[in-house]
Amino acid sequence: MNLYYINHNFRYEAEKLLRLFFPLEKIVEYTEFNETNEDYLLTRIDGEESLTLTAGLSLNGEAKSKIKEIKKSECDDLELELLLLAYDLLCEMCGFTPKWGILTGVRPSKLIVKRLSQYGEENARDWFLNTYKVSPEKTELAINVAKTELKIIERAGEKSFSLYISIPFCPTRCSYCSFVSHSINSEKAKSLVTDYIEKLIDELTFTAQIAKENGLRLTSVYWGGGTPTTLSENELDRILTHIESTFDLSECLEYTVEAGRPDTITKEKLDTLKKHNVGRISINPQTFSDSVLNAIGRKHTTAQTEEKFLLAKEVGFDVINMDLIAGLPTDTVEDFKNSVNRAIDLGADNITVHTLALKRSSSIVTENESDSVTDRDIWEMLAYAGKALTENGYHPYYMYRQSKSLGNLENVGWCKKGKECFYNVLMMEEYQSIFSVGAGAVTKLRSEDGSIIERIFNFKYPFEYISRFDEIIDKKERMKSFYSEELEVRS
Ligand code: SF4
Repeated sequence: MNLYYINHNFRYEAEKLLRLFFPLEKIVEYTEFNETNEDYLLTRIDGEESLTLTAGLSLNGEAKSKIKEIKKSECDDLELELLLLAYDLLCEMCGFTPKWGILTGVRPSKLIVKRLSQYGEENARDWFLNTYKVSPEKTELAINVAKTELKIIERAGEKSFSLYISIPFCPTRCSYCSFVSHSINSEKAKSLVTDYIEKLIDELTFTAQIAKENGLRLTSVYWGGGTPTTLSENELDRILTHIESTFDLSECLEYTVEAGRPDTITKEKLDTLKKHNVGRISINPQTFSDSVLNAIGRKHTTAQTEEKFLLAKEVGFDVINMDLIAGLPTDTVEDFKNSVNRAIDLGADNITVHTLALKRSSSIVTENESDSVTDRDIWEMLAYAGKALTENGYHPYYMYRQSKSLGNLENVGWCKKGKECFYNVLMMEEYQSIFSVGAGAVTKLRSEDGSIIERIFNFKYPFEYISRFDEIIDKKERMKSFYSEELEVRS
């Protein structure tokens, strides 16, 4: 697919818009228009004071265009005008209207939270429906999420941060996975774990020192990955104990460890987590169909998921989350509905409903296994999940979108009243600094007023994390100067 952007600088936005309609195609960009037989989107602005906006689309030999005349002095947002013109044409010729309209970003709720708090609900609703062309059902979803988020955000308070710990190991690799997660069953990965934990401990010590020196309050701890419970109970115990002895946890509102894969969970590991005051865990079925589990390379059964869920209930965690994914290879609408019902019947406190994203590095894409579910199926799956969860007392409390998700749809965290995951909201909406440790972890430094967000990236792969650890610590020295600059601004 060719993209022409002529006489304007909205290249990035035009490309993202085009990706909504052609998510997997290679897009080649040009600044000059040459008549061609290939498919293309043309975006163009002519004139100086009196402007002519042009959107042209050629698909499979059929070409159409739309033109809009506009006075520069009367136009608040030229980029939006041009994108809306192209969007109308794309919807018309592709026969498809994206549920999220022209919104391409990963955080639609962040946009609406701001609008809602500044101008109120009616204004925010109208803005999403009429300016961004978001569908009525997604607008309501975004407003409901935003209203809950506003209450959660207030709890963070000043000078707070969350701690994220990355454990990039899993028992096997799921076919849709794009994370840098190593199968622990390979000898190479096993030999890395011991050294990995040593470095992780060092990075935690370094991070705790920065928090202490700057008087920062730790409000939540979150272990993700990978699958943290791939580690043995002794390894978990060692890291949990180290966190307790180096960080001040007296203001910590929640402590979460992802125990995503049921095949990694044992009674001993759950007891270890509980002993260290972990209150929230995730046990992720993804689906309650054994044949779909097999198709995606997860070597556990739905019976195991249920058994481990009941075991975790018995151990007594405050919140157990279950993740489901809509659009997995070989899944059907009926089987997905059954998965939603089973998670509800089990009594999961949180149920996070993801839409499958086709990431280039996942085997689902490299091996071309992703064509069993249509966009209409996905709409039906998500619509059913929303209805069934609402009827059973769950409400949506956080949301994000991923690029290349089927139907450009969203991931939504649903929960029972009072069971929201504080970390998920603050991290996703960027309301707090996140100090992240481990391979692939990204530290986000946020100024108190939110006007500055800086990121520090750790090396992705465990072997790099171990062998180049000193470089990571050098980069993370920036955390110290960030907080001394913050102090100067505030004094
Ligand atoms: S459990 Fe998660 S991180 Fe691990 S391979 Fe599967 S999708 Fe990737």
